[in-house]
Amino acid sequence: MQILIFIFSIFRPATIPNAEIPLGDRVNMGFSSTILVKGRGHAIVTATGMNTEIGRIAKRLMDSGENSKTPLQKALDRMALVMLAVAIISIIITFGASKFHINDEVILYAISLAIAVIPEGLVAVVTLTQAFGVRSMADKKCLVRRLAALESLGAVTNVCSDKTGTLTQSKMVLTRFWLPADGHFNVSGLGVIPEGDITAQDSTTPVTQETMSPAMTQLIQNTSLCNTATIRRDKENGEWITQGDPTESALQVFAHKVKMGNKRLTSDENGTPWTLLAEYPFDSGVKRMSVIYKNPTGQAVAFLKGATERVLACCSSIQFSDQEGGVRPMSQQEMEDIVFPQVENLARDGLRVLALATKSMKFEKGDIGPDDLTREDVDVDFTLIGLCGIYDPPRVESKPSVQSCHEAGITVHMLTGDHHATATAIAREVGILPENYGRGVSKEGGVDHVVVGEDKLVMTAMEFDKLSEETIDALPSLPLVIARCSPDTKVKMIEALHRRGKIAGMTGDGVNDSPSLKESDIGIAMGQTGSDVAKQAADIILTDDNFSTIVLAIQEGRRVFSNIARFVVHMISGNVAEVVPLLIGLAFVDVDGTSVFPLSPVQILFNNILTSSPPAMSLGLEPISEDAMKVPPRRRSEGLFAWSNVIDILFYGFMIGIICLLNFIVVIYGYGDGNLGQYCNEGLNPGCEQVFRARGALFAALTILILLHAFTCRDLIHSTWNWRYLRRNHNKYLFYSFGIGFVLLLITLYVPVLNTSVFKHSPIDWEWGMVAASCVAYIAFAELYKAGKRALLRRRGYRV
Ligand code: ADP
Ligand code: MG
Repeated sequence: MQILIFIFSIFRPATIPNAEIPLGDRVNMGFSSTILVKGRGHAIVTATGMNTEIGRIAKRLMDSGENSKTPLQKALDRMALVMLAVAIISIIITFGASKFHINDEVILYAISLAIAVIPEGLVAVVTLTQAFGVRSMADKKCLVRRLAALESLGAVTNVCSDKTGTLTQSKMVLTRFWLPADGHFNVSGLGVIPEGDITAQDSTTPVTQETMSPAMTQLIQNTSLCNTATIRRDKENGEWITQGDPTESALQVFAHKVKMGNKRLTSDENGTPWTLLAEYPFDSGVKRMSVIYKNPTGQAVAFLKGATERVLACCSSIQFSDQEGGVRPMSQQEMEDIVFPQVENLARDGLRVLALATKSMKFEKGDIGPDDLTREDVDVDFTLIGLCGIYDPPRVESKPSVQSCHEAGITVHMLTGDHHATATAIAREVGILPENYGRGVSKEGGVDHVVVGEDKLVMTAMEFDKLSEETIDALPSLPLVIARCSPDTKVKMIEALHRRGKIAGMTGDGVNDSPSLKESDIGIAMGQTGSDVAKQAADIILTDDNFSTIVLAIQEGRRVFSNIARFVVHMISGNVAEVVPLLIGLAFVDVDGTSVFPLSPVQILFNNILTSSPPAMSLGLEPISEDAMKVPPRRRSEGLFAWSNVIDILFYGFMIGIICLLNFIVVIYGYGDGNLGQYCNEGLNPGCEQVFRARGALFAALTILILLHAFTCRDLIHSTWNWRYLRRNHNKYLFYSFGIGFVLLLITLYVPVLNTSVFKHSPIDWEWGMVAASCVAYIAFAELYKAGKRALLRRRGYRV
């Protein structure tokens, strides 16, 4: 509750007026929460606080999923339970086979089985694979703050991206502006170099400080002063660099082009300077910024700039000419009728439009200070002086990245604070909207009212916010572009996506983006322009702010997940392959009536940890398969243990297990005379030679097949044992682990004492031929199985 009150006070300073509030009364705090007023002005937030918007955010931030398990963890937990059940059943079978005459031998056998069932190395391999995934993502400029994000990344179905800086380069330049009195002007010069000319649309003569109209001077003063960005020349390489918000940088560069930069206007080198009295910074909620300055003549002047509708709402007149009476008071409607077509005109080319306004202020007692007036007090009665259009070219990578999202069955949405026409133009350029979307449509109603099929692809946040949850859910599809988006709209969008069962990634940079970042399955913060709050709320951070990095991250998420599935199949089928000979081996009863191990406990442990972990690790490092980004995202329900994986595990496990057991049987009954000796589970004694050799053969076959099995598991559907596959670029770790496993096998077989006393097997010779035959049989069966699987998938209509 303390935290809640604290958060309350941040978001809405509790300004309970001095007015008398009867004791015990409830005060509305906005956000539909209540405050119960107690004696002595003591205010207590009632329990309903948690049901409010802020309460919900606070709750969300508090239980930020640290203690809730991810689907992968849940799948692994479930698997552990299944394994436990299998282990218990195996133990019961062992006991049953000895008719419950339980002695040390039987207990040892039961323990071996239990060890064989549990995949000892799995947790370590899963963790390491994810850690390597996180590392390789860091190389691709994406920092993962929460390991679980890696998992959801692979399953993302929708990405909601903002426009500026993510899809576009954020190298903004002011290229055009409009003055009600003088019409449109072009500004030349690209980038941040403050060199370029202003020319009227129908002229080629550049406008200079001397020839420009007072209205234009005012406009440029606004761009220069209502601005917190700075531009300077780098001391070392002499290049121009800007600091601050890219939009404001563009305005500042423009002001510098006519030598009216902020520094020049506010320094006293050229006479009396402009001095800043108060500043109300830009906020993506209100979408405007205002400042109050004292001008060189001592008069207080306010400048306002921001999104057109928001600025117009603060205006009551338009400056038409510089003559007396040039400022014409107008109603909102009249102003909109004049200004909106011009906005449309600029925005249609993808320009970001800002409206600029000014007014002079009167004040009685001394200078205005920053705390004297609130934003609401200041932002009224302005006079509109003009519009400017800022060009922000899309990143070159954006279009191909959006394209590859589409190929991977991922829908890309653009949620931007910009004007709908600007948003539409850019969305079309990067391929979020169809190429010809909105072209050739009558101006009436504007671009955003185009309906394709029954869907409205572009909506303004106003339209979207007005829809009820039911109406949104009834839409055939959600809009691809939402313009004039506020942080709340982002949350609404995420909720709508969740109601449709989608897994959504959402980008954000501002402080008030944190609710939507938290709400989304993958919160994506911007490393360069993002606020710290947004970064803290995010799951991943893009260090280069680039949309294409999101696609790389999704790709990496898919890679890691499919690799985990691969080595889980590999490891668990290895366990099944050990359990099969052990269970069937219960039938090999010696003269005492004791079952003889086909595999000793040390052999099993050795296999589970040393032989199968390195290839599993290497499978975790498998590069992304070619078609990983050509298939739709896996469904939420389709976890690690999809049926196909379970069937794979059982098939490969039984197949390998039986092939290995055959090696044992051939040595004892084919080559030998069926003598199982006595006390052969305890150590080598005369009479056990045959059993020991048979164990050696089984162990050699099992080890090698498990190593080869990793090559099979590289692709669970397509053939891996063909010339084309073997010739392609290889994951060298797989070969290293094969080598290591093989050398370890030789050591365990041929180092004296180690082999007979620890592993309880003896060296083999002619049996190698049998092991080789086992490999051929294994490969043949594996390929046949996959061919059958592909045929089945094809019959179900999959393209494999
Ligand atoms: P986005 O980042 O999605 O493009 P923003 O929320 O940054 O959207 O901006 C939304 C709108 O607010 C812009 O179209 C512009 O009109 C206005 N705007 C952006 N930056 C500033 C700023 N620094 N000062 C005033 N207005 C701004
Ligand atoms: Mg922005």
